[in-house]
Amino acid sequence: MKQLVILSGKGGTGKTSVTASLAHLAARETRIVLADADVDAANLDLLLAPTILEKHDFSSGVIAKIDPAACISCGICTDVCRFDAIDVIDGVYTVDEIACDGCAACFYQCPANAISLPTPVVGQWFHSDTRFGPLLHAHLFAGQDNSGKLVTLVKQEAKLLALDENREYVIVDGPPGIGCPVISAASGADMALIVVEPTVSGVHDLERAYATTAHFGIPTMVAVNKTDINPERSQEIIAYCQQVGLPLIGTIPFDTIVTEAMVNGQPITEYAPTHPVSAAMYSLWEQIRTVMQNDKASKK
Ligand code: SF4
Ligand code: SF4
Repeated sequence: MKQLVILSGKGGTGKTSVTASLAHLAARETRIVLADADVDAANLDLLLAPTILEKHDFSSGVIAKIDPAACISCGICTDVCRFDAIDVIDGVYTVDEIACDGCAACFYQCPANAISLPTPVVGQWFHSDTRFGPLLHAHLFAGQDNSGKLVTLVKQEAKLLALDENREYVIVDGPPGIGCPVISAASGADMALIVVEPTVSGVHDLERAYATTAHFGIPTMVAVNKTDINPERSQEIIAYCQQVGLPLIGTIPFDTIVTEAMVNGQPITEYAPTHPVSAAMYSLWEQIRTVMQNDKASKK
């Protein structure tokens, strides 16, 4: 079983449409598991129309909770809280859930044992079925910031499923940008594909994403999406790849048919198999598969 993660230094590069096309092409020849690791704004399901088989709550962190019936209004908790998270509202000691850091100082100091530290539900994760194979995906509730943990959970579940069902690849649609969720999505991957657009920040975005994969020693390849919208910027990206020795394995032309395909709920390779954009995706998948299979052979 091999894990491929698709990343981008920022959002809006077409990463998810590339992921969906690769999933479509991979699923034609082998058995795969998909993981949408963009838990803050999951959208792979828009192209895959999943049927949810299992739904689970995701709990993380702790937040203090005061039992008003047990509280003796001593005020100790407000004194010890360094986050000013406890106020007296209408005569009742109350925790501001957004301000609470879960440090437990109030819990240990309360003389009346009126404070508990429950773990709140901050999101949900799903095991779904799609026409390309199982999809593990998740949704972090608005305002929550534990997406790295949820990404790790989604990836773990995808990996376990792939091992259980002897599936050849786990294809992970990573979060855009950099940071904790991206590190969680990339860690343990056998290969990373960075999708970059030829924009003003293109090289910078690529550098940021590559810094993450290089730090973890993940073999990394690059594809330039919508390459013809700015040939000059595309050349800058190509030059950067040559300079740092990053394999550039594909350039995908721009065409509004990709949006048309998405509106129809299909990756471009499924919607218009003979279109030049699809041809670029076929080429991309061929090279990824070859590299991953060679990598597998070299590790036997
Ligand atoms: S420390 Fe406990 S008893 Fe005192 S005000 Fe806070 S919750 Fe109430
Ligand atoms: S757990 Fe810490 S941050 Fe939260 S209310 Fe208690 S003392 Fe304040």
